[in-house]
Amino acid sequence: MEIDELIKELDKKLIVIKKEILKDTMYVYCDTYKKETQCKYCGTISNSVHSIYQRTISDLPIQKYKVKLLINVKKYFCINPECSHKTFAEPLNFVEKNALRTKRLDEYINKIGLKNSSLEAKKQINDSHVNISNNTILRILKKKKGFN
Ligand SMILES: [Zn+2]
Repeated sequence: MEIDELIKELDKKLIVIKKEILKDTMYVYCDTYKKETQCKYCGTISNSVHSIYQRTISDLPIQKYKVKLLINVKKYFCINPECSHKTFAEPLNFVEKNALRTKRLDEYINKIGLKNSSLEAKKQINDSHVNISNNTILRILKKKKGFN
C-alpha cells in the first residue's frame, strides 16, 4: 500500500507533501486541505487562519521504519464575537489532545501490552520499530484499563 493511502486512513483531509528517510525513521510531512473548520468552543464556522504550527506525531511503523508524521496544523480565528475563545486549532481526530502518538499506534501498543509483561511488551514493540519506554507502555495500559 502506498504511504499516501496509509495516511488517508487516518484522516481523508491529510495530504502528504514530502517523505524523507533518515536512518531508521520515515518522516512524513503533511498538510490539511480543509479551508474552514468549526470552532470547538461555539460551533461557528471560520475560514480565517491565524497561524500554522507543526505537530510531530508517531504512527505505526511501515516495513522496517519508524514513522513520524509532521503535520501543519492550522489555528483559526473564531469570527463569533460572543465566543469565549479568540482562536482555536483545527482538531485532528486520529490523535488525542496534546498526544504524541496516533490512536492506532496506542491501540497497537495496547494489544501487545495486554498479552505480555511490560518488559516483553517493550521488547516486542521495539522489535517492530517503535521506540517507547516502559513507563509509556504502562501509562497506555493503565489508561485503557480505566485506572487514570
Ligand atoms: Zn468560537
